[in-house]
Amino acid sequence: MKKTSSFLYDIIFVGGMLLFFFVIGLLIWGELTLPDERNYTDFYLKDYSEGWEIVKADGSRIPAVIPGQFSMDGSGKLILEKKIGNIERTNLYVTFNSARQDIVAYIDDKKVYSFTTKDTRLFGESSPGTLMFVPVNESDSGKHLRIIMEGQNNYSGVVDGMQIGTQMGIVKHFLAKEKWTLGMTAFILYLGFIAFVIGASIKLAYGKTSPLFFSGWCASVAGLWALAESDVRQFIAPNFSLLSYMTYLSLIMLPFAMAFYFDAVQDGRYRPLYMIAAVLDWFCAFIAIILQFTNHTDLSNVLFFAYIGFILTMVIFTVTLVCDFIKQNVKLFWPELVGNIGVLIAGLVQFLTYKSRPITVDRTAILIGIIFLLLMSYLNALINIRNLERDMFAAVQAQESSSAFLTRMSHEMRTPINAILGMNKMILRESKEDNILDYARDVNGAGNYLLGIVNEVLDLAKVNAGQIEIDNEEYVLMDMVREAYAMVRPRATASRLAFEVDMSDVLPSILKGDKERIIQVVTNLLTNAVKYTPEGRIKLSVQGKIHEGKLLLIISVSDTGIGIEEQNIPVLFNSYRRVSDFKNKRIEGTGLGLTITKQLVDLMGGEISVESVYGKGTTFTVMIPQEICSIEPCGTFSMGPNGDRRVADRHEVFDIIGKILIVDDVAINLRVFTMLLSNTDITVDTAISGVEALEKIKRIKYDMIFIDHLMPGMDGIELKTLIAAIPDNPNRTTPLIMQTANAVVGAKEEYERLGFTDYIEKPIKEEELKKLIRKYIK
Ligand code: ADP
Repeated sequence: MKKTSSFLYDIIFVGGMLLFFFVIGLLIWGELTLPDERNYTDFYLKDYSEGWEIVKADGSRIPAVIPGQFSMDGSGKLILEKKIGNIERTNLYVTFNSARQDIVAYIDDKKVYSFTTKDTRLFGESSPGTLMFVPVNESDSGKHLRIIMEGQNNYSGVVDGMQIGTQMGIVKHFLAKEKWTLGMTAFILYLGFIAFVIGASIKLAYGKTSPLFFSGWCASVAGLWALAESDVRQFIAPNFSLLSYMTYLSLIMLPFAMAFYFDAVQDGRYRPLYMIAAVLDWFCAFIAIILQFTNHTDLSNVLFFAYIGFILTMVIFTVTLVCDFIKQNVKLFWPELVGNIGVLIAGLVQFLTYKSRPITVDRTAILIGIIFLLLMSYLNALINIRNLERDMFAAVQAQESSSAFLTRMSHEMRTPINAILGMNKMILRESKEDNILDYARDVNGAGNYLLGIVNEVLDLAKVNAGQIEIDNEEYVLMDMVREAYAMVRPRATASRLAFEVDMSDVLPSILKGDKERIIQVVTNLLTNAVKYTPEGRIKLSVQGKIHEGKLLLIISVSDTGIGIEEQNIPVLFNSYRRVSDFKNKRIEGTGLGLTITKQLVDLMGGEISVESVYGKGTTFTVMIPQEICSIEPCGTFSMGPNGDRRVADRHEVFDIIGKILIVDDVAINLRVFTMLLSNTDITVDTAISGVEALEKIKRIKYDMIFIDHLMPGMDGIELKTLIAAIPDNPNRTTPLIMQTANAVVGAKEEYERLGFTDYIEKPIKEEELKKLIRKYIK
């Protein structure tokens, strides 16, 4: 079905395309070959170059061969005269290009026409070159037509043709002459504008400067030049003086845009050279425009500067291109290079076909070259975007797989470390020999340190993979502070540091948020404070302010320690960075703690900041918004009636009696589990497989059953289903707890969906386990 529909889709698509090309083809073929149907007006036009004479200042006459270039007489005028032959129709016009001069025409002694833009142009010394329309009628037959051209400029004296016709005939003739160049110019302006837009979008989306933006710029400038050069500019722009000046202004702008274009093509490798060229170009353009606006010179006279800028930019490009060839960088931008070679060839063809001093430049070759360059520039951008996308995709994949790898490895490592620590705890509990106890304490210290690092790596991998879920549950603020305090207090005491707590007593007593993550953040900061403070004190301050209906919890941890050098502060929260400072060389650490801390704070919608005076001390401040559940004041901070011990021992007071079953396929896990509850009144029964577990469950009533999720043979979920199917099951109401090594986002939903009562994260932590037992065995 899928195949058929995609085949059908292809057929319909091809049908649609064929129709489109047929219609366009029909239009082009028909307009070029079918007869002219326009009968409503007169397109009459005839050559009128024969029979002209030049009238010199002394009155003498010489024949003028048109087209031609003639010298001006002493008073700066060129006078052409011709006897008008037999005119058979009314409303005819003699037309020619004004060669940037002012024009006056007489028939016999009657002035019939004059042209100057002296009063209408914005600036410049001469009127622009444009088509003249000198009216002649039947009654003028046999009279003399005298045309006076006045004004000095670089085209003075050039007459490239004389024609006679109706106004419509003249317009049609010139439009037809210019149709290809006009069409190409419009296409270039269109492509250039789109290139501009795409180049800007690439910058916004990928932060990369694309040569397409600058080729779009160059092409727009070139398009403007081509438009301004056009013979028919007076039919396009009402104030064609201004448009005509664009020929010069665009050429003055071009080297500037080109410098930026080449710089982008070569990825900024030779930027200083191009910037020098660009500054010079800009300076020339600036001077030229100032001189022009103040009518001190004509723009055509400052083209020289544009040529210098153009040559300079091209020389830099050529020289640096050789460097790029040697360094094999050319493959990075080959389409642009091919495009440029195309323009160069087009420019050469243009140059070779240049006839001596024509009034308008034939622009066909160069326009084709520019279109080619633009298309190659589009191709280059396409290749670059594809490469960027591929790199980004690869980077995301690498990041994902490295996060997945780290997560798996740290999970795998935590299980044996916990087993080692668990077994070691038994040695500490049961051994009576002092030297064995000493060894066991060392194993305990090193093991805990190792577990800390593995946990940090796991946390970071989870944060990077977006797998950390922030809980939003009610908690007692005072408990949170006490727990954090109690966890760091022994280290502070061991380092002989005073540990102050300054907690506002009016803060709301019950908040909603992720208590455990806040404790993790605060203990990270407090542990650092202890680590990096050789003597003096550390201080935990807990304050708050109401912000947008929530409590902005402001927790600062300050110390009188070694401090952080100012230049190191910006990199503190970067992954894997340890500040290199001889003072902390001997202090253990991975440089991960602050990275995780910052990421957790970010996840909780908070902010972290640091202030430090090197050699004096450091203050880290975190601000985390928390929902308020009870506005009752939390009261003065204290560690409760039993001081530190109450919190520290909170988990030790465990007087629950019950019987539980642990199902796990790894024997050491069963032993650790058993050991964790060895000095309690909980009787622990174990099963190494689902089959063994089923046997026991059928016979014995348990208060709780802990089932490993992943087991060979029958896994935890199958086991659960089979338990539910046991007839007369003594454990029908027993809470089933899933042991999961994958407590990432969604674990909670997952165990609920599968019908387990609760879950516990592996490796099992003593406190977590006892908390859970307390929850289900009353
Ligand atoms: P670790 O402590 O494991 O090296 P952290 O990410 O916790 O990694 O800290 C990064 C660096 O920040 C530390 O190496 C240390 O140089 C500096 N640092 C952190 N906290 C303090 C502090 N309270 N006083 C001085 N330096 C600190």
